[in-house]
Amino acid sequence: MRIVLLGTGDTVGTPKIGCTCPACLDALAGGKSARSRFSILVESDEGRVLIDTGPDLRYQLLRFGIDHVDAVIWTHGHYDHYAGFGEFYRVQDRVPVYGLKDTLDYILEYLYFMDPVRNDVSVYEPFHLIGLEFTLFLVCHPPIPQSTGVIVRDGDKKLVITGDTNKHIPKHSIEVMQKPDLLICDAIAPPIFDLDKHMNTAEAEELAAELHAKKMVMTHLSHMFPPHNLAVKQWNLGYDGMEQVL
Ligand SMILES: [Zn+2]
Ligand SMILES: [Zn+2]
Ligand SMILES: [Zn+2]
Repeated sequence: MRIVLLGTGDTVGTPKIGCTCPACLDALAGGKSARSRFSILVESDEGRVLIDTGPDLRYQLLRFGIDHVDAVIWTHGHYDHYAGFGEFYRVQDRVPVYGLKDTLDYILEYLYFMDPVRNDVSVYEPFHLIGLEFTLFLVCHPPIPQSTGVIVRDGDKKLVITGDTNKHIPKHSIEVMQKPDLLICDAIAPPIFDLDKHMNTAEAEELAAELHAKKMVMTHLSHMFPPHNLAVKQWNLGYDGMEQVL
C-alpha cells in the first residue's frame, strides 16, 4: 500500500492566522512548516481511501492529483477531520463513508446537503475496502466519548494511525496496535507542552516503543514546533506530501 500524508497540521493549521512565530514565518515563506489540516491517503492497486477529510481537502486533492476516492473513513467528529468533505459537492457523488454510529450521526448532520453512502462500523471489527483490511480502535480524546484510530493491513504489512488521542489509549487497543510496520502518531507539540487532548512528542515516542513500531512518523503538528528543517533534527515529523510505501 501507498500512504500519503495530505495534511499534517493541527486544528488551526500552520501558519496560524495572525501569528508571526518562527514556524509560521517559515510556512508563510514557503517552507515545510506549512501544514494543512488532517487527512491521509491510503492507496492500493484497487483504489484510494481517505482517512479523514480536513477543511483543506480541495487544495489537497488538486495538489496531489487525486481525482476520485473509493471511500472515506472518519476517525471522529472534529471539524478539522471532516469539514472538507463538502468539497466533493458537484465533484463526486455518493461517496461511501465509514465510521462509528455516533461519529456518522454527528458529521452527516453537518453535511446535510451532501449524499454520501453511509456505512456504520464497530470498533475492533475489520472491514474490507480496495483490497485492504481496515479496523477502527478506540483511543482517548476528551471530551469526545468515542474517538478512533485506524489499523490497515495489506498481507503481512501493518499500518497504524492513532488518530487524535492523548496517551491514555485503552489496553485492548494497545494490544491490537502491536508491532506496526509504520505508526502514524499524533504528536501535537514538543514535550514542554502537556496537553490533555493530544500527545506530545515524548508521549508519541513512548507509544512507539511500547508498540515495538518499526517506524514512526508524527503528525497533527502545531506551530509550537521550531521551523520544520530544525525540528526534524530532533523529531521524526511528517510534512504535507510525505509518502510512505508498505
Ligand atoms: Zn484534530
Ligand atoms: Zn505561529
Ligand atoms: Zn480531534
